[in-house]
Amino acid sequence: MKNDHLTDNDIQAHVFNKVSEDDIVLHISTCTVCKAKVTSYQALLHAIDEIEPETFPFDTTRLAMLKIEQFKNKKSTTASYILYAFLGIFILTVFVVCIPYITPIFKTFQEMNNITNAFVIVSTLSVLIFFLTVTFRQYKQKIILLTA
Ligand SMILES: [Zn+2]
Repeated sequence: MKNDHLTDNDIQAHVFNKVSEDDIVLHISTCTVCKAKVTSYQALLHAIDEIEPETFPFDTTRLAMLKIEQFKNKKSTTASYILYAFLGIFILTVFVVCIPYITPIFKTFQEMNNITNAFVIVSTLSVLIFFLTVTFRQYKQKIILLTA
């Protein structure tokens, strides 16, 4: 049997986990100080059990998700319109500026033999596919982050 009073850990283990060693149970039954502690912990446990989770007359999770979706869509549409406008202007400008330079490029292609042409086309396609794959992977990672 322990001569000292029980520690808070012992009492909490006794009250909350409902498991304790025999000497702890014996001490509680004989010591008024520790018995009072056990009683207050039991009152606390009872009070915690009494608290019901906050209830709302509507589905808060669904509402929050709806708000997030609305915000996301709004943001992305505005951003994408601006992006498309800039891209369109950029491509048009590049095209207009490059017309004098594009014709010689086609001439060079015509002058080169078929193997060189094939090599250039395959290299270009490889680079393009690589960038598309990287972009798609990043997109998927973002989707996973968003839905996680
Ligand atoms: Zn005691």
